[in-house]
Amino acid sequence: MVVLDQIRRADGVSRVELAASTGLALQTISNIVSRLLDQRLVVEGERRIEGRGKPRTMLHLDPQGAYALGVHVDPVVVTAVLVDLDGGVVERQSIETPVGPDAVVEAVADAVSVMLEAATVERDAVLGLGVAAPGPIDLASGRVIHPPLLEGWLDVPLRDALAAATGFDVILEKDVSAAMTAELWRGNRMLTGTSLFFYTGFGVAAAIAHDGELFAGTSRNAGEIGHLIVDSDGPLCWCGQRGCIGASAAPATIVGEAVVRGSLDPRTPQRTPRELDAALTAVCVSAAGGDEVASDVLRTAARRVARGITVVADLVDAGVVVLGGPSWERLAPTFVPVVRAELAEHATLREMHAVEVLGSAVGESVGAVGAASRVLDDAFTPRPSGLVGGPRRR
Ligand SMILES: [Zn+2]
Repeated sequence: MVVLDQIRRADGVSRVELAASTGLALQTISNIVSRLLDQRLVVEGERRIEGRGKPRTMLHLDPQGAYALGVHVDPVVVTAVLVDLDGGVVERQSIETPVGPDAVVEAVADAVSVMLEAATVERDAVLGLGVAAPGPIDLASGRVIHPPLLEGWLDVPLRDALAAATGFDVILEKDVSAAMTAELWRGNRMLTGTSLFFYTGFGVAAAIAHDGELFAGTSRNAGEIGHLIVDSDGPLCWCGQRGCIGASAAPATIVGEAVVRGSLDPRTPQRTPRELDAALTAVCVSAAGGDEVASDVLRTAARRVARGITVVADLVDAGVVVLGGPSWERLAPTFVPVVRAELAEHATLREMHAVEVLGSAVGESVGAVGAASRVLDDAFTPRPSGLVGGPRRR
């Protein structure tokens, strides 16, 4: 659906312009547009006079023409969203992550019903459900293999379980790839050149895009940078090495250093992912309130992460680096200046071009919105599995 995608990206576009930009014959465009109008995915808007000749009718996407569901399974919180055809969030639910995959599937099914009812969106108007999970994933069988941070998850057929529980077609995607997809939908800056997305949560991962397309890798698991060593004297990682980027930015490391250095009460609970997440928030709040030790602990983590970002940015010659994920909003005040400075001072390619460092344009729900964007992406992209005949009719 190249035509639909061009209508989405333009602020009003005529049939003649679509013919010129796609290289399709005007008659073909007219036929496609008639079908899109019938399907109510597109609406006709104002008439514009361009040069000589009769005024042309502008075409716009109808955001309410169809919807997609997105779910992000994170060790701390499961986020579910309902987005419209333009990727805008219509409904959002977040639930403390239940223990075990069965309980998560059940919670997602409930959240989906609640959202559809709240938005009065009929099931027939929903194109499908995307689910973002920590990698690695097995795309062919729709399984989550062994996310190290989700207790009780080993080789889980998440795609099929969610399809059975919700009744929707389900697309499984790695969380950081989903996040990048969401950014590509929102961020026009990433449509040319090479961009990176760095995901910070309980782990660290990266996604790469070139000219607006995700670089997915051989098994759609690209971006596993967790064991990139960024400080040979850094914290011990579960892999046995010191100073891996994943261990350096892990909430357990930051919280542990804050305790050792006397900034955080050693009795602070940090056994479960949720407790660790709350303890990380406490360190960030202390830093924002002027606690120099807490600030220094965060700056140390930021310098290590920045080192890794610089290496990967050089590797792919990135022009834009976007940072996001569940921990990001809290870490951003400390991390952004450190990452910018590191890239400006130490990137090998700094003399060739600057690297723009941006926070996520989508925000905290970037994983869930990205999972939904994957569904929309399939609908907008000309593939056999895509929106060939339009969404199921209302
Ligand atoms: Zn490691």
